[in-house]
Amino acid sequence: MNPMRPTSDIDDVPPTNTGCPLPAVDPALEGKPLGATPWSAPEQPPQRHGVLTQAEPADKAALAQQICDVMRIMYQHEFVVANDGNVSCRLPNGNLLITASGALKGYMTPDQVIECDPQGNALDGRRVTTEVKMHVAAYQERPDIRAVVHGHPIYAIAFSLAGISLAGCAIPEIIVTMGSIPTAPYATPSTDGLPDSLRKFLSKGDAVIMERHGVVCVGSDLIDAYKKMEMVEHTAKITHAARTLGGNVTPLPPTEVKTLLETRKELGIYTKNNLCDGCGAREVCAAPLFPD
Ligand SMILES: [Zn+2]
Repeated sequence: MNPMRPTSDIDDVPPTNTGCPLPAVDPALEGKPLGATPWSAPEQPPQRHGVLTQAEPADKAALAQQICDVMRIMYQHEFVVANDGNVSCRLPNGNLLITASGALKGYMTPDQVIECDPQGNALDGRRVTTEVKMHVAAYQERPDIRAVVHGHPIYAIAFSLAGISLAGCAIPEIIVTMGSIPTAPYATPSTDGLPDSLRKFLSKGDAVIMERHGVVCVGSDLIDAYKKMEMVEHTAKITHAARTLGGNVTPLPPTEVKTLLETRKELGIYTKNNLCDGCGAREVCAAPLFPD
């Protein structure tokens, strides 16, 4: 207001409503700037999305809870639905903890995790997942791993149904961390054909898409294996988005791939996957840049 202007009764006359109704204001908030409303945390905080239990390698109770956590997160991410998928970890004595057959995976509880011998036979006689042979084969092929995670993520399976490989060296992050994402030829689930089809790929890498079926990832612990599952599906989604935009997803040139693999060495990232065929056309490299 102009300080020189004399006050008058006009200033005290409320504005007349010219048509638009005044916005409704909560009397408790009126006059307070945004964000100044008092707030306090609820007494029982909501369960954090993606909460994970800490587990030492020999702590069976914590590992069983961690298996449930991983299955729940896989369910939340739509990597599994209903009874799909199975997860296991290897104990220091060689035995396995693995999901029970028929469990609703998004809502599993630790009593639905079963201890098996290294051949996959339940110690208490209960029925373990029908895919236990796949887990046993993974541990046999890879003495260095402690966990196997299997799910049915939508985009990764869709690529295999469409006959499109994700093995090409297109995304630098994947080249550095996982090498490549090959697809194993179709084999009937729950038969010996499935683990047999996977052995070659798991001996050379940490993640493989099973044609028409799902994805299996291995790792140094449950979280490491789960993380790779996320990366496979994320790669499938990115590739799908690029293709939907009409782009042609081309592999990086071999010289750049070689530079990325050197970066991996410098970062100290460990993976068996040194496969790179430079063009993405072949699933197994004839001349790996860094042979075992
Ligand atoms: Zn499956």
